Amino acid sequence: MAEHKDIQALVGKMTLEEKASLCAGADTWNTRAIERLGIPSIMMTDGPHGLRKQRASADHLGLFDSVPSTCFPSAAGVASSWNRALIRRMGEALGRESQAENVGILLGPGANIKRSPLCGRNFEYFSEDPYLSAEMAASHINGVQSQGVGASLKHFAANNQEHRRMTSDSIVDERTLREIYLASFEGAVKQGQPWTVMSAYNKVNGTFASENETLLTDILKDEWGHEGFVVSDWGAVNERAKGVAAGLELEMPASHGEGERQIIEAVRGGTLAEEKLDEAVRRILTVVFRAVDSRRPETTFDPDAHHALAREVARESMVLLKNEDGILPLAKAGAIAVIGAMAKTPRYQGSGSSQIRPTRIDDIAEELAKSAGEQAEVRYAQGYALDAEEPDEVLTAEAVKIASEASVAILFAGLPSRYESEGFDRKHLRMPANQVALIEAVAAAQPNLVVVLSNGAPVEMPWLGSAKGVLEAYLGGQALGGAIADLLFGDANPSGRLAETFPVRLADNPSYLFFPGEGDRVEYREGIFVGYRYYDKKQLAPLFPFGYGLSYSTFGYSELTVDKRTLTDAESLRVSVNVTNTGTRAGQEVVQLYVRDKASSVIRPDKELKGFEKVELASGESAVVTFELDKRGFAYYDAKTREWTVETGEFELLIGRSSADIVLSETVTVQSTTERRMVFHRNSTLADIGGSPAGEAFVRQLSSVLPFPQELSAEHSAMLRAFMEQMPLRGLLSFSGGKFTEAALEAVLRQLNGEVPA
Ligand code: BGC
Repeated sequence: MAEHKDIQALVGKMTLEEKASLCAGADTWNTRAIERLGIPSIMMTDGPHGLRKQRASADHLGLFDSVPSTCFPSAAGVASSWNRALIRRMGEALGRESQAENVGILLGPGANIKRSPLCGRNFEYFSEDPYLSAEMAASHINGVQSQGVGASLKHFAANNQEHRRMTSDSIVDERTLREIYLASFEGAVKQGQPWTVMSAYNKVNGTFASENETLLTDILKDEWGHEGFVVSDWGAVNERAKGVAAGLELEMPASHGEGERQIIEAVRGGTLAEEKLDEAVRRILTVVFRAVDSRRPETTFDPDAHHALAREVARESMVLLKNEDGILPLAKAGAIAVIGAMAKTPRYQGSGSSQIRPTRIDDIAEELAKSAGEQAEVRYAQGYALDAEEPDEVLTAEAVKIASEASVAILFAGLPSRYESEGFDRKHLRMPANQVALIEAVAAAQPNLVVVLSNGAPVEMPWLGSAKGVLEAYLGGQALGGAIADLLFGDANPSGRLAETFPVRLADNPSYLFFPGEGDRVEYREGIFVGYRYYDKKQLAPLFPFGYGLSYSTFGYSELTVDKRTLTDAESLRVSVNVTNTGTRAGQEVVQLYVRDKASSVIRPDKELKGFEKVELASGESAVVTFELDKRGFAYYDAKTREWTVETGEFELLIGRSSADIVLSETVTVQSTTERRMVFHRNSTLADIGGSPAGEAFVRQLSSVLPFPQELSAEHSAMLRAFMEQMPLRGLLSFSGGKFTEAALEAVLRQLNGEVPA
């Protein structure tokens, strides 16, 4: 980030009071200006899928009085596009709308990992996988920031539930933090360099994120090289001076003098070094001047063009989950029954701080009628009451009637906003009972049933067998109706892939036993086994796996090649695969690359996503997709050495249509350049010793030392070998009948550890 030339000088001119005052907001959305020194103020506001600029200053829970802006799909959907370029374009549009409203920083995106499908805010997060999440977040950030508007990557870190969100303590072991929860932020920071990062409400391993020096300084700034400033989540500050010391530069919203008072006292009392405060001010001023220098006051935006972009993003965000008998795409003819209150009152965005006022909202039924054209007749019935749980006989009867008279029924269902929101978690994964009952009733009258779901996170689908087609539309933004029509009638080919696992039932989720914790203590006991990493390893079939989604085309894979069969972990590997559209329609395929460590001394997932590309292919067309893997593609995080580590050995490169559908694989050998030599001691097991080149011969000749019968059956010697493998070296002292002595043990250890030649 280029530094404004006079910033250091400016900091030098500021009084302690002025410096402290700059470290908190002026009000809910604006930073402090200091006129005496020509320091301007900038506005920071939500985010992430549209601009929520409130008309009046006022309270930040006044959710509705904001200027109209384009409502793009929520992150849960956006991530299902797996399309970096498209997300970047969406970011550019968001940046432009922010410029048009003179907003300096657009809060978001959220890169928290979906640990449990119950988290009320999952709609605002991308994925259960840190690689996919980081790639999506970086694309979003780069798009917004290309317009001279800053992003704010949030909520850093381990903020994976809403229950007790301002007091809970996420207890996460270091390897899990690094490989899963931090990795999602790490990639986004390194590739996107967001102007600001927002610290989370919760504690992480005992310390509030807003005063967590390990997170905010050691990892974010020193290790990852973040150049901007850290802003607290709104109201996340616990003790202000501790925050400054830890690397939290800006407190939001205004603390009405309280935060400054604490900072001034701490500096005067000698508990906060003034240099720390100077550094915080320097970081804030760098971003403030950057935002001001990037202002383009003449910016306008074209709401129609942005609505069209929102429709494009929505099309790619929706995932076709089921298409039995090729019921989709629908013919543009005959009688079509459109059923469900959600077709008229669409659920298109999540509730809470991200809720915006859209420039317009598609009427889904109307969009369907428009796309279906004049040869078709679209009829509508409400089917259920959105605010009720129990079925309504009259509404059901109406829906069943129009369904039975039509050639196909499209039923709109999902989660009403009272079911999921920022601020609280879900208790179960069920849909409202009246919707489920309606699906069954309509299916009984009309077997050609397509269900379209609007929800921010997975639902259980006990009714799945009753619908021939299922489209997961997520929270599709203001242009969802047009996008759904495009997909259902085949004007566009579905290309979304799930960025999260849909479990058969809630209890299958790996965090189920420990979510949402005991009181404020939330232990992440499932460790690295989040999402598909768990379902894979447990061989537990989900309802729909990570990476899954159907298309109206079919794609064939061939010629998986690697540019080397052996490499060191300091080299990179190029992996290529040929993809062909073997269907009759143009379409997009998401090519997914997973890596599996074939043998490992540490517990690892069965496989992990390490690359993906979305390719567009005409019918019959082929393309070669190439991935580049570096050390991180093969490494795990070693919490003892605090290093990303590759164990020498074979790795499989897996090309999949989803995490559960691997179509091609190749094996390479990766040699570690940093592998540490094992140091043996008297309690090293014979298996460990025998597994090393130095100890193999020693273990082989042990039968001569041990008083075992000479003539043993093959079965008995195998048992004995297995038994002996668990024994520590010093066990030989007891079991060798005196043949193996303490002096021999010491001599062997010296030899094994290379202190004397073998
Ligand atoms: C949310 C943030 C949001 C902020 C400002 C907080 O309650 O957690 O995501 O950006 O409010 O509205």
